[in-house]
Amino acid sequence: MDLGAQEIADLVKSSKVSATQVVEAHLDEISRYDSRVNAFLLVMAENALEQAKRIDVRRSKGEELGPLAGVPIALKDNMAVSGFATTCGSKILEGWKPPYTATAVKRLVAADAVLIGKTNLDEFAMGSSTENSAYFPTKNPIDPTKVPGGSSGGSAASVAARFTPIAIGSDTGGSIRQPASLCGIVGVKPTYGLVSRYGLVAFASSLDQIGPFARNVQDAALALQVLAGHDDRDSTSIPGSHFDNSFTDRVAGLRIGVIQEMTTGISGAVEHTLNDAIAFLRSMGATVEAVSIPSTTYGLSAYYLIAPAEASSNLSRFDGVRYGLRVPGADITQTYEQTRAEGFGAEVKRRMMLGTYALSAGYYDALYGRAQKVRTLILDDFAKAYGAYDVLISPTSPTVAFGLGDKTDPLAMYMADVCTIPSNLAGHPAMSVPFGCDEAGLPIGIQVLAPAMGEQIMFSVAQSLQNGAAKPAVPVWRRD
Ligand code: GLN
Repeated sequence: MDLGAQEIADLVKSSKVSATQVVEAHLDEISRYDSRVNAFLLVMAENALEQAKRIDVRRSKGEELGPLAGVPIALKDNMAVSGFATTCGSKILEGWKPPYTATAVKRLVAADAVLIGKTNLDEFAMGSSTENSAYFPTKNPIDPTKVPGGSSGGSAASVAARFTPIAIGSDTGGSIRQPASLCGIVGVKPTYGLVSRYGLVAFASSLDQIGPFARNVQDAALALQVLAGHDDRDSTSIPGSHFDNSFTDRVAGLRIGVIQEMTTGISGAVEHTLNDAIAFLRSMGATVEAVSIPSTTYGLSAYYLIAPAEASSNLSRFDGVRYGLRVPGADITQTYEQTRAEGFGAEVKRRMMLGTYALSAGYYDALYGRAQKVRTLILDDFAKAYGAYDVLISPTSPTVAFGLGDKTDPLAMYMADVCTIPSNLAGHPAMSVPFGCDEAGLPIGIQVLAPAMGEQIMFSVAQSLQNGAAKPAVPVWRRD
């Protein structure tokens, strides 16, 4: 279905189309074509049709519907929906059905969106290709021999394949923006604390944020407006926060910095697209200059100490007693050991070992402590840059989508997030907008970064970039 979220909501609100018709059409697309993409771990067909029916009944009674009336939404499978399996792409959670629903999901449902299903991800959101899922890899809808990016690859693929106009992901080091870039769609990581994390299975709590994917900037903003807001159940939620979905596409007079450290080591096609974006923004009246943010070069190293350290603590709760899988042993210790040995995949184990090491006595100051200092340096450097520039831009990913199975070295995979990680360490918002393609038609996104709570200006620049973006060289979704 090519209809966007706003179009669907308008049609449903004005009774031109019923929510049931919308949902049936999207379920039909998924049942026909998802075997070629593998975006979904679970399709919630019955529940979606019931939800749609309730919306239609309310509409027929003349009730006013919410801003996402009848809009089908796919959720990354690390967000809890009461009574539905939540796997996090891991065998260790197999069979676990949460008894509660994530705040972000509740807000979507309250806005009359319809939950269509749960999407595939790298196990516990650790990865950049969705190949670390314990179930199956997801394919890039634009070229099924390529990865969709990750870790929210199923959500990105759902939107790119037109299974849903909106999908929700989580971004700890780039997991919304990088797959958005690789799939040719829009992906937003909001300011830390703007969207509640209650009901998001924690990976690295000080970095995790929930955010939307959409096929255009306006739909992403519509979704973010619904998602954003204070929640007493998340102690890091910003009091009084909201996002007002009104922004222009005006960049005239804006000062835009291009992060120098993120222009080295990128592919030729990505560099070309970045230069096109710079030229376009200048033609629209913005001042665009190079800016150095030196500490961002340490971002990757700091992230791979902080994120695993937090993960090693967060994932200790999966013990074979409280959730999902249990591999019984002779005593409780053996049950823990066997469950965790069988339930977790290789990348998750690697991260837990790295994290435990970084936090252990004797190494804490040299590793974890130092990484936290880098985090402070990054915040200071960004603050300096935002003294001179309204927003910053960079490539989202150093390359276009890579081949399934191509990256076997963990470090090579980690490099995929070199441009996205600094925003998580700073807690700042950033988003990816498709702007060009390489010669093979693989999409390339531009990242727009803004200071904390700077979503409004970030969206204006993204909207402008969308206006100037090259049309894809190949059809976005080839089914035959
Ligand atoms: N690719 C990064 C990692 O593996 C980021 C993941 C994420 O944002 N969830 O940690």
